[in-house]
Amino acid sequence: MTVAALGELLLSRSLDDPELLAATAQAPEHRILPDVHVLKIGGQSLMDRGRAAVRPLVDEIVEARADHRMLIGTGGGTRARHAYSLAAELGLPTGVLSDIGSAVAGQNATMLGHLLAEYGIPVVGGGAMASLPLKVAEIGAAVFAGMPPYDMWQRPPAEGVIPPYRTDAGCYLVAETYGCKSMIYVKDEDGLYTANPKTDPSAELIPEITVDELIARDLPDLVVERPVLDLMRHARFVRSIQIVNGLEPGLLTRALAGEHVGTLITAEG
Ligand code: ADP
Ligand code: MG
Repeated sequence: MTVAALGELLLSRSLDDPELLAATAQAPEHRILPDVHVLKIGGQSLMDRGRAAVRPLVDEIVEARADHRMLIGTGGGTRARHAYSLAAELGLPTGVLSDIGSAVAGQNATMLGHLLAEYGIPVVGGGAMASLPLKVAEIGAAVFAGMPPYDMWQRPPAEGVIPPYRTDAGCYLVAETYGCKSMIYVKDEDGLYTANPKTDPSAELIPEITVDELIARDLPDLVVERPVLDLMRHARFVRSIQIVNGLEPGLLTRALAGEHVGTLITAEG
């Protein structure tokens, strides 16, 4: 497919035309930030545990900066859940809850950013998101609020009003769009289990699984938001994600070094 042929299709066909869509997939793919790791620092699982969890992680991130470039996204957590419960009870729609979730992820980014400020690591958000590559190139790391800015355009879920695309999905989309090296979820469990280990003591760790297998297993609950799995199925760049325990010092550093710690979830093909 030549550029001219693609241009011709784009002018003459609908943007849903299958031949046109296939043609747009043929150009060699370009990774925008291929050396950068995207981390997601859990809201409920880490930030809400306060100093005991956050301080050691900050130290680990600062140390890792000597060897790695990182975009650090934040989750929402308990404050977001509290606000969701109030808003849902008041009968407010998904788009409003999405705004609320963004605000809380922003609070966590603000806190994390100020802890990292003395190392020159900035918080980047809103329109300034465009300067994120520059920050990473110059400073080696930047913090952002993980919630995707869908706001009132957040796609409503099949049931209820909780925004389906929250901070796991937001961080994943940053990694995929920039063609990043890895997507590492830093949470409070050793990885993905067969069930929520907090409520099911018989849950077993799954060190590695494919996206299709995981969807087929239809587990009652997951360690990452389910839409991340759908996004991974169509990913061009970030075809695996890793879940590590951020409460155990050193695991994040090992994951950044490419070691298989925690759980790896990989898309086929
Ligand atoms: P975050 O703080 O990043 O938003 P969450 O609290 O949403 O993280 O997700 C992590 C939590 O998911 C874990 O603390 C765990 O209790 C829960 N969880 C539910 N299902 C699973 C599972 N199958 N394997 C591991 N953890 C699970
Ligand atoms: Mg979560």
